[in-house]
Amino acid sequence: LQERLRRPGTRMLDRLRQAQAEDGRVDAEVLERVAGEFGWPVAAVTGAASYYADFAEGRRGQRHVLVCEGTSCFVSMQGQHIARLERALGVRLGECAADGSVSLQGVRCLGYCYDSPAVLDGEHPGSGEQLGGLFGDPRAAERRTRPGWAEPLKMRTAQIPHASAVDRPVVLAGLVGDEGPWEVWPGVVASGSPDQVMAEVAASGLRGRGGAGFPVAKKWSATAQEPGPRYVVANGDEGDPGSFCDRLLMEGDPHRILEGLALAAFAVGARHGLILIRSEYPTAAERLRAAVSEARESGHLGKRVHGSDFDFDVEVVRGAGSYVAGEETALLHAVAGLRADVRARPPYPTSHGYLGQPTAVNNVETLSAVPWIVRHGGAGYARLGHPDEPGTKLVCLSQRFRRPGVYEVEYGVPLRHLVEDLGGGLREPHTLRAVQVGGPLGGFLTPDQLDLPLLSRPLAEAGVALGHGSLVAVDSALPAAAILRHAWAFGAAESCGACTPCRVGARRGVELAERIGETAQAEAALAAHEPLLEVLTVASLCAFGRGVSCAVRSLLRIYSDELRRTGE
Ligand code: SF4
Repeated sequence: LQERLRRPGTRMLDRLRQAQAEDGRVDAEVLERVAGEFGWPVAAVTGAASYYADFAEGRRGQRHVLVCEGTSCFVSMQGQHIARLERALGVRLGECAADGSVSLQGVRCLGYCYDSPAVLDGEHPGSGEQLGGLFGDPRAAERRTRPGWAEPLKMRTAQIPHASAVDRPVVLAGLVGDEGPWEVWPGVVASGSPDQVMAEVAASGLRGRGGAGFPVAKKWSATAQEPGPRYVVANGDEGDPGSFCDRLLMEGDPHRILEGLALAAFAVGARHGLILIRSEYPTAAERLRAAVSEARESGHLGKRVHGSDFDFDVEVVRGAGSYVAGEETALLHAVAGLRADVRARPPYPTSHGYLGQPTAVNNVETLSAVPWIVRHGGAGYARLGHPDEPGTKLVCLSQRFRRPGVYEVEYGVPLRHLVEDLGGGLREPHTLRAVQVGGPLGGFLTPDQLDLPLLSRPLAEAGVALGHGSLVAVDSALPAAAILRHAWAFGAAESCGACTPCRVGARRGVELAERIGETAQAEAALAAHEPLLEVLTVASLCAFGRGVSCAVRSLLRIYSDELRRTGE
């Protein structure tokens, strides 16, 4: 569809957002007007508007509050924060007050998992006396809005008991280290070659940090081999509840992401880059847009960059509320202003991506590592971490930990080091029951499994996916049935609906989880889980359905005794 539309839709979601702010809703009149402006069929605009949560039917209040329903926020108050907020605002979740003064929307998640539970009041995190004091900690709003919030991003120079590098300090891979951004780019674009950049990234063994772990050089090289025009796209759609490192990177170090994207563009021969940032991260979008303007003024972007014959510019696109938009084929639809539908692969985006052209899509954390690799050499990066997964990873620790935040560690460190040495265990009076690894599509581990290393394969063998590298601590007080219901509810709410096994299966999962709470039905509901999980695993179109089933399986394993007792 995007190839048939006359005007590119990168501004479509922003235009709908603007119309919604002016008219209070996105109705038929708005859709017709916007379609006319873009020269699009009304059906194409209606399709997009009806897909995204931000444009859901119904009125928006003058004050629109988002409340996080992600796992860390759920764990922090066993989900009670929603009801408390409803009472305080006088409006039900998903509704607008009769006088239009306030509306309340649930989202997964807001990226403040180190300070749960989180709300976004308009575009401001937890601001306002009412919201700031609501959760029992009046300093919460101040902590979230503190300018230049960067404490969690500071690398800890703790000693890590690491199999391949005993007692070596945690390494600063340049992501947020002392080196400033744009130190590599001028020299590379003026006198380097795309092959050199490609060779260093290949030597580094860098893999995608967003969850799929695909080798970056392989993706770039496949894109570069296709006829142009080619595109590079940065994925800033960090939707995994529990993960907030991309938000902090985009807000705290946007130029490093841009430099990584520019180096990617140089390597694959792209003249145009796009960044999709999820709508729940308004500050990240604002800072990246400002960084693009600054980079243009400094000559890092634009025509004949730094006296070379290379032109390159970047466009920032803000999403509109869709978890699945983080999947790369869905993301390519979202940047074009369309429904963020997943499509079957092949063809892969490397040959058939944005506007049907060859496109390299990389997560923002992945791109942030590229300047360091080009500057210090791929071999140096490959020496970090583990031979199977070289380099470092930003790992997010949730609010229940004594020292929540983002830590950059080498791949291969034991999870116990993250949980106990860096995170400091759980804050009093809580005790650890399980750790969710890799977000809602990852899985849960018990405390006695924490000697597993931070590596994809051993974790997969233990039944969990590393995903984007978040660890959410679950304490012993949270009832088993509640966390199971939470896992299924995420699947039902965020399934894009394109394939039946996931769309229907996740809803069926919610029903089964509800029945586990009913004494007479618990055993049958537990037994019905296995065939349902099997269908999601083998028949889902994308990794979402498989991931949800993987997470639910791990919960059934850990909590089987408690869940059975629920039925006694
Ligand atoms: Fe959409 Fe779920 Fe199917 Fe993925 S598995 S395409 S998210 S319905």
